[in-house]
Amino acid sequence: MSLADKDRIFTNVYGYQPWNLAAAQARGDWDNTKDLIARGRDAIIQEMKDSGLRGRGGAGFPTGMKWSFMPKEPPKDAAGNPKPSFLVINADESEPGSCKDREIIRHDPHKLIEGALVAGFAMNARAAYIYIRGEYIREAETLFAAVQEAYDAGLLGKNAAGSGYDYDVFVHRGAGAYICGEETAMIESLEGKKGQPRLKPPFPAGAGLYGCPTTVNNVESIAVAPTILRRGASWFSSFGAENNRGTKLFQISGHVNRPCVVEEAMSIPFSELIEKHCGGIRGGKDNLLAVIPGGSSVPLVPAAQIWDAPMDFDGLKAVGSGLGTAAVIVMDKSTDIVRAISRISYFYKHESCGQCTPCREGTGWMWRVMERLRTGEAHVEEIDMLQQVTKQVEGHTICALGDAAAWPIQGLIKHFRPEIERRIEERLGGLREAAE
Ligand code: NAD
Ligand code: SF4
Repeated sequence: MSLADKDRIFTNVYGYQPWNLAAAQARGDWDNTKDLIARGRDAIIQEMKDSGLRGRGGAGFPTGMKWSFMPKEPPKDAAGNPKPSFLVINADESEPGSCKDREIIRHDPHKLIEGALVAGFAMNARAAYIYIRGEYIREAETLFAAVQEAYDAGLLGKNAAGSGYDYDVFVHRGAGAYICGEETAMIESLEGKKGQPRLKPPFPAGAGLYGCPTTVNNVESIAVAPTILRRGASWFSSFGAENNRGTKLFQISGHVNRPCVVEEAMSIPFSELIEKHCGGIRGGKDNLLAVIPGGSSVPLVPAAQIWDAPMDFDGLKAVGSGLGTAAVIVMDKSTDIVRAISRISYFYKHESCGQCTPCREGTGWMWRVMERLRTGEAHVEEIDMLQQVTKQVEGHTICALGDAAAWPIQGLIKHFRPEIERRIEERLGGLREAAE
């Protein structure tokens, strides 16, 4: 079942109306926010748990559960003073293929800011920091202006939205490093340090920003919270399959007739998403080669396996991939698939922060072999060797970047080994011919 217009949360995702406060209020944002807050912390967290919302930044961790990890009573510092708690909103959207948070900030920033207040209250946070990707220059301008509008209207600051709760929202611009989208690297960066991931545990709720209890949530996860609270957990959970509830922004790029960002019900079949919103595959269904369904960190899925797959965490896991950020990269038969994955390998090599050896050395090594496969210069044994190296990187690094570098290559070898071998054979054939 696909989503009716009345059930869309992001009603201004295409920017047909202004983003400003007056227009946002006309769309229903900031409507009696103090009443949402008056329900109390436990009730808000329970509603979020009941909604089934799973984190929209890629990992899919249950949002309400994450909020519940925050301490009800503030822990004390060494001098016995209570420590503040913080909400950090991850707007560092840098995953290749992902562009949904950008649209939210461009056209619906007040959903995010209202969500920041309600979520921050639920976890007893003193303030929210919105960490926005450095390249999002106009979006940062919009966000700064929207936050200022909220302060001017009394929706933030002392007695925010008349709730009796004091709450600040700070916007912090990143400087262009992909790794600062990893939650602990983001915290380091906010603290003014080099953005490098920390070992987890401790998770941020135990020791986060400035050593204080912190929750890091994606933009979309926070921006949907006020609507979930207004319309109810049962409304939100009526969409999607078991364990994969709600509506979701999908970002479809590549070889479709109309690339777009669209809100749909979770678990919509891939075919319906593409036919209904993108005008189908360029050149028709039979021209589809493969799809990366969740941003560059997840393995590709060949055409035959993706066509009927439900677009959710479990449906895509069943075909050996993942929902990730729901950035759906469609590749038709004109794609040089080995080159495409090699380019992704280069990206991870470039973005590795370098603090752990398997990632620092492995990403460069994997990219160089991928380039040999691309040009056909590799020996056929190198395919298995590359596969083994991906297994040595996967699961052996501080953060998920190592896995993200390994998985696309594993997907390529699994599904397109004959194509890799064909290139090697073709080049050898050429060399033999030249020698004769
Ligand atoms: P993760 O599974 O380690 O953690 C997900 C979230 O759950 C984190 O906030 C973490 O603190 C929390 N968590 C997990 N286990 C916990 C526990 N036992 N106790 C308390 N909290 C716990 O994943 P991650 O490294 O945060 O994210 C990886 C994902 O990020 C990838 O799947 C990828 O799709 C996505 N990603 C997104 C972007 C983007 O631009 N949006 C960029 C890169 C990667
Ligand atoms: Fe840095 Fe890579 Fe290690 Fe992550 S896996 S901490 S990016 S070196």
